[in-house]
Amino acid sequence: MSSRKDIIKVKQKGNRSKEEGILMPVISKRAAGIAPSVTLAITAKAKQMKKEGIDIVGFGAGEPDFDTPDNIKEAAKKAIDEGFTKYTPASGIPELKQAVCDKLKRENNLDYKLSEVIISCGGKHSLYNIMEVLLDHGDEAILPAPYWVTYEEQIKMAGAKPMIVDMTETGLKLTAESIKRVISDRTKLLILNTPSNPTGMTVEEEELKKIAHLAVEHDFYIVSDEVYEHLIYGDNSHISIASLGEDIKKKTITMNAVSKTYSMTGWRIGYCAGPEEIIKAMSNLQSHSTSNPCSIAQKAALEALNGPQEFLAQWRKEFDERRKYMVEKLNQMKGINCIEPEGAFYAFPDISGTGLKSMEFTEMLLDEAKVAVVPGKDFGADNNIRLSYAISMENIKKGLERLEKFCESLSG
Ligand code: GLU
Repeated sequence: MSSRKDIIKVKQKGNRSKEEGILMPVISKRAAGIAPSVTLAITAKAKQMKKEGIDIVGFGAGEPDFDTPDNIKEAAKKAIDEGFTKYTPASGIPELKQAVCDKLKRENNLDYKLSEVIISCGGKHSLYNIMEVLLDHGDEAILPAPYWVTYEEQIKMAGAKPMIVDMTETGLKLTAESIKRVISDRTKLLILNTPSNPTGMTVEEEELKKIAHLAVEHDFYIVSDEVYEHLIYGDNSHISIASLGEDIKKKTITMNAVSKTYSMTGWRIGYCAGPEEIIKAMSNLQSHSTSNPCSIAQKAALEALNGPQEFLAQWRKEFDERRKYMVEKLNQMKGINCIEPEGAFYAFPDISGTGLKSMEFTEMLLDEAKVAVVPGKDFGADNNIRLSYAISMENIKKGLERLEKFCESLSG
């Protein structure tokens, strides 16, 4: 119900008098239903508290703590000095599209033409464009849970219905069998995110093949979010579902960004490759919403994709050490059970043994122990919390010590 504060009196066109004007909500129904991004909110809150001098450990940030590499920064400085500071084509500069095509060929065994690629203002923007051009009111989008908070909101913003596949029943692993149960004649797409934010779990080749088969057979699209592809630990390596055959390639939009891979979260460059018709619709949408992604950031992203890649192995090694440490420690805590994540930089422990749900746990932890984590509720898993290990080992140790004491205090 709208309160008096939320409404304005408007004069209707036609034969109503001003006095008879109807009460109209200020905020559109479409926007009023959007929840704020809890991941961004927690990250901002932890940063703010730190600024205020509060000794807080923030496990919220979904961004690497490494600095953006110097060669990438230099490319941006050069772009500014050379005056590359004006509009570019709305869908991105051809050189960067070519670098994306080369990268997809080199790393993902995928062949795309420039007209099948679009550059957007970050991975989130790429996804937003996809949802807007693919989903109509009444369509269904299959969303495996736990899911990254933004997918659900973007599906709803597009007027479609998220059809949840509960992965907690399958050890946080996505299976074709569980997807099958929610397919209907309204299914338009499936969100595939491997490695996953927030669980860190991956989907292996055999399962990917089965999922691809379902998409082709039931004629729905796969939105493949591959932003964590470089962060897979152990012997597995990433496989792009679109590379499994021509049929599935036609039904897939592969989405990626430079944000996580190159520690460029603030530069806001994401990209997609997929069927020309879909990319064209996304470009049209983009041309009327944001226009081009930042010209300087595009030059930086070009250097990121074409420049040296060797440091990525070192970063992965560091993340892996933190991952192992964190999972071992979490599993020693009272009431906590953590499945070992296979990729990305998140641990997603089950906290049900503490007797608390995620919101209460998170609020008490912040208040009493000055540790910020993200509640699982907004990821569709109220028995879990998310901890990012994209922070220094020193802070991980300090934060986990506090968390351990907090868990002790709950049972005591
Ligand atoms: N994707 C990151 C996260 O999940 C960044 C924050 C956001 O955009 O949601 O923390």
